[in-house]
Amino acid sequence: MKHLVDTLRATHHLDSGGYKTLLSSHDREGITYLHQQARQVAVSGFGHGIYVRGLIELTNVCRNDCLYCGIRRSNRAVERYCLTTAQVLQCCRQGYELGFRTFVLQGGELPRHRAPWLVELVREIRAMWHDCAITLSLGEWPGDVYRQLHQAGADRYLLRHETRNAAHYAMLHPAEMKLENRLRCLDRLKSLGFQVGTGIMVGSPGQSLDNIVEDIEYIEQLAPHMIGLGPFLPQHDTPLGNHAPGSSDLTTRLYSIFRLMFPKVLIPSTTALNTLCPGDGRLMGIMAGANVVMPNLSPASVRDSYALYDGKASSNAESAEGIKQLEQQLSTIGYHINWGRGDYND
Ligand code: SAM
Repeated sequence: MKHLVDTLRATHHLDSGGYKTLLSSHDREGITYLHQQARQVAVSGFGHGIYVRGLIELTNVCRNDCLYCGIRRSNRAVERYCLTTAQVLQCCRQGYELGFRTFVLQGGELPRHRAPWLVELVREIRAMWHDCAITLSLGEWPGDVYRQLHQAGADRYLLRHETRNAAHYAMLHPAEMKLENRLRCLDRLKSLGFQVGTGIMVGSPGQSLDNIVEDIEYIEQLAPHMIGLGPFLPQHDTPLGNHAPGSSDLTTRLYSIFRLMFPKVLIPSTTALNTLCPGDGRLMGIMAGANVVMPNLSPASVRDSYALYDGKASSNAESAEGIKQLEQQLSTIGYHINWGRGDYND
């Protein structure tokens, strides 16, 4: 396994068999070496600073019906909310005072007639906080809406493709959702000038190792600025709620593989990983080469309603109020918070 890790570090590429071996090998020493090499690459590019993004969970209203997601439109057990403009601006204000210089607005996919409101919201945030990056993670929209959001001042867009395999995509989504549309959205976002992030859920129902290799090869070709990966976690009110969660081992191997493929890419150590491995998931991600964390800035009153999966972590070091705890946690492994905007730098 070591020679594959060395080749990946030197050339940023392997053939599909090489990726498959890195994902499936039982060679514990080799896996430790994979993480070590990825960590070295991350430290030589970013030092021991970890970027923080303030996550604002804008809404759990969603027009889509993804079979894995707790806020899918068919889930009647969820109490729906959408933050008001004033609430969002208040979250940003609090985040700014705490030191955040990136705000991430994430949410379900609002009805199409709400697009002008989203554009106006971005414009207001941009007008008030010139020095902050605005990241959106609001799903699929027509190209002209993406253009207006970009013109209003949004800098980055996160849209996981979820899986590059059409048959697998169809197992996870209703028939009206199409993989081609997701991929088209990513191309549009990139050509509009957004810094773009994509990614997958690791261990999603029906996912094979070959599927993950297809994802790696798709991401290789897209060359995104950010890569978001977390384990699949079941949500009991969804059709896929009985499936087993994804594995932290596979998730962290992927962090390391992507770090070696793309030394400068921004990789969050995700809330889902920290939910799967309470207490140390976030640190495991960093030890595997991740360099971003996204504490929650949403009002405490709505956090339980943004229930994508069961047991979602949103308090302590996962929350913006818990920033001291986060700093303390990072210091135990020799890292600290980097309060910069953390743009992708070529
Ligand atoms: N609607 C937007 C979209 O689809 O990109 C943003 C919100 S969506 C809830 C954000 C991400 O949550 C999805 O891309 C998906 O990967 C993740 N997610 C949803 N349900 C999940 C689950 N059960 N386990 C792990 N991650 C999940």
